[in-house]
Amino acid sequence: MRFDGRMDDELREIEIRIGYLDNADGSAYYRQGNTVVVAGVYGPRLLHPKHLQDPKKAILRVQYDMLTFSVPERKKPGPTRRSIELSKVIRKALESVIMLEEFPRSVIDVYIRVLNADAGTRCASINAAILALADAGIPMKSLISAVAAGKVGQRIVLDLTKMEEDYGKFVPENDYYGPGTATDIPIAYNPLDDEIVLLQMDGEIEKEDFLKAMELGIKGCKEIYQDMRKAIKKKYKVVSIEENQG
Ligand code: UDP
Repeated sequence: MRFDGRMDDELREIEIRIGYLDNADGSAYYRQGNTVVVAGVYGPRLLHPKHLQDPKKAILRVQYDMLTFSVPERKKPGPTRRSIELSKVIRKALESVIMLEEFPRSVIDVYIRVLNADAGTRCASINAAILALADAGIPMKSLISAVAAGKVGQRIVLDLTKMEEDYGKFVPENDYYGPGTATDIPIAYNPLDDEIVLLQMDGEIEKEDFLKAMELGIKGCKEIYQDMRKAIKKKYKVVSIEENQG
């Protein structure tokens, strides 16, 4: 068994709350184990100043940040090199499915805040953001979903925790995982086009293990996609019943 008792191909528990914030145009709370993220969307609205507008499509702005109290070692408030990079890769993944050409001269703002981090925050952020965009009614070709897979010691596992990411470096080796360190491969996936829209890697891995991890990651993304669909359907079913009663 893994540190938290999961099987190697098992995701952490997922909790989704759509429309979590009252004041944003769309929002979502997304928890995967102890990684908790909230996303709020504003727009589409006309972009000011005018010279930043694109006459052919909307501009997507994404801001990822970890809250000061989201990590064991207090994070200094404000952007970092890491948060700027993550904002960019998350934006690229989201842009692959949002129909930006429907809203020329406009801007769509996506604000993502990590409330609690236990690894996998970029993937949880993509999941929270795409749900918030759906909640805001932004047209998309498909939902995308994201999760990390990788190798811990000698095992190929899905959805690594921070303890697993630190295996062999700050966390001592044990019999279950075997000798070695950890390699983490975040993946975001578009199930409609069977397309990978984000792929990164932290660590080293042999080709055969990389392919096994990818397969596991895509399987995880497909499971999360089903959870997302269920959460969206549940929310909008309730709204339509309430409207009918009103
Ligand atoms: N982390 C931290 N402090 C930081 C940045 C990261 O404690 O300033 C932890 C946090 O748990 C995060 C994990 O390290 O989830 C892995 O960070 P990484 O940069 O690999 O991104 P993530 O896996 O969160 O997408």
